[in-house]
Amino acid sequence: MEKTLFQKICDKELSAQVVYEDADVVAFRDINPQAPTHVLIVPRKPIARIAEADAGDAGLLGRLLLKAAEVARTLGLERGFRLVVNNGPDGGEAVPHLHVHILGGRPMQWPPG
Ligand code: 5GP
Repeated sequence: MEKTLFQKICDKELSAQVVYEDADVVAFRDINPQAPTHVLIVPRKPIARIAEADAGDAGLLGRLLLKAAEVARTLGLERGFRLVVNNGPDGGEAVPHLHVHILGGRPMQWPPG
């Protein structure tokens, strides 16, 4: 099966500004930032979207979220940040490889667009 865009970034076949990586997850700066800090954190495992994760992914998903908060701290987002997971066409998903957006560096609005 062809690798996803984010698998290619994880495997260093495409360049990106990686800010954190370990055996399970990779975090890198979004190419089209929507906030002063905009990082994507992805599992190396190519789960297409959160709706397609299963119970066997629970540990990985927990580590993904915990690591998102840790990356936010290391990026200096003490005033706060937003985590976003887009799912499917109405959710605004463009890349079918699960990713959590870490957005910060400005006050966020609610409701989101
Ligand atoms: P989605 O809309 O699927 O939740 O978010 C996909 C995100 O991936 C977008 O914010 C988009 O800017 C980002 N993105 C798309 N292609 C690339 C790329 O090649 N490199 C990086 N670093 N980010 C990308």
